[in-house]
Amino acid sequence: MAFAQSHIMTARRHQHSRLIIEVDEYSSNPTQAFTFYNINQGRFQPPHVQMVDPVPHDAPKPPGYTRFVCVSDTHSRTDPIQMPYGDVLIHAGDFTELGLPSEVKKFNEWLGSLPYEYKIVIAGNHELTFDQEFMADLIKQDFYYFPSVSKLKPESYENVQSLLTNCIYLQDSEVTVRGFRIYGSPWQPWFYGWGFNLPRGQALLEKWNLIPDGIDILITHGPPLGFLDWVPKKMQRVGCVELLNTVQRRIQPRLHVFGHIHEDDRNLKKTSRKQQARCYPGTFWFLREELPSYGVMADGTTTYVNASACTVNYQPLNPPIVIDLPTPRNT
Ligand code: 5GP
Ligand code: MN
Ligand code: MN
Repeated sequence: MAFAQSHIMTARRHQHSRLIIEVDEYSSNPTQAFTFYNINQGRFQPPHVQMVDPVPHDAPKPPGYTRFVCVSDTHSRTDPIQMPYGDVLIHAGDFTELGLPSEVKKFNEWLGSLPYEYKIVIAGNHELTFDQEFMADLIKQDFYYFPSVSKLKPESYENVQSLLTNCIYLQDSEVTVRGFRIYGSPWQPWFYGWGFNLPRGQALLEKWNLIPDGIDILITHGPPLGFLDWVPKKMQRVGCVELLNTVQRRIQPRLHVFGHIHEDDRNLKKTSRKQQARCYPGTFWFLREELPSYGVMADGTTTYVNASACTVNYQPLNPPIVIDLPTPRNT
């Protein structure tokens, strides 16, 4: 009898083997979620979680590796950016200011001038025209919030994706290059009603549930909670809790590339220890470091890259981030 039952259990697990992620109880308050999981689980602390130095642009690539050049949030300001050597370019969204077709064409020309074997791009909240539902709503509201987009004719943005001829564009979809399964998604937590905004919780979780198991490299526009998602001027963590749970518990990719939060350490005002202690008891380690958002971290399974080229003042001062990964065999 015991045997029969365990046999049934195994069968059931095989059928529904995919782990189901539930909406987190702290979903709507990521700063509180960060504090709670840090105090109770040390979830964002060393030794599991570390800052990582990106590969220097002039370092030789080890044999058998694929070199990824990660960039994000270029916001139509690509001219001064020095692009390093690599095999695959990843752009994690916000390549324009408003998604105007003229901006998309200029970005596509820039992509065309780059020598990478593969160039993979997702949209961000600034690519308004890529979010067709958003555009339909905007027309209903008579372009109240984005008057400069009102001059566009629907036929000029209905197929705006087709202007990206020099890259692989991902939108809740995946591609395999050099044996790596790469998935891209533009959605992020609601912030002032831009493109691809969704409420925290169930709505975003449903987008993350579209990510198949077995993805090696995940590209999203926004960060997961606790990884390079700190907005110092608000003393807030703004990453998505459901994205973190999906990445750490279910997908466990080698690499997660994102941007969206532009804060770097150039303009950080030092936060006093007393202020830190008042706001976030038990989270000294990160706050003491006055972490910027741009940079690289790792949790032992996944390397997290916030590749925002632009600073909070939309100046493209942060260099592209280089990551080497061993190329899967038989490719
Ligand atoms: P962007 O407009 O380029 O998408 O975002 C640029 C800046 O907006 C970020 O560097 C950050 O300062 C702010 N921002 C974006 N999303 C959020 C959010 O969800 N919460 C907060 N507090 N700030 C955000
Ligand atoms: Mn941006
Ligand atoms: Mn953004």
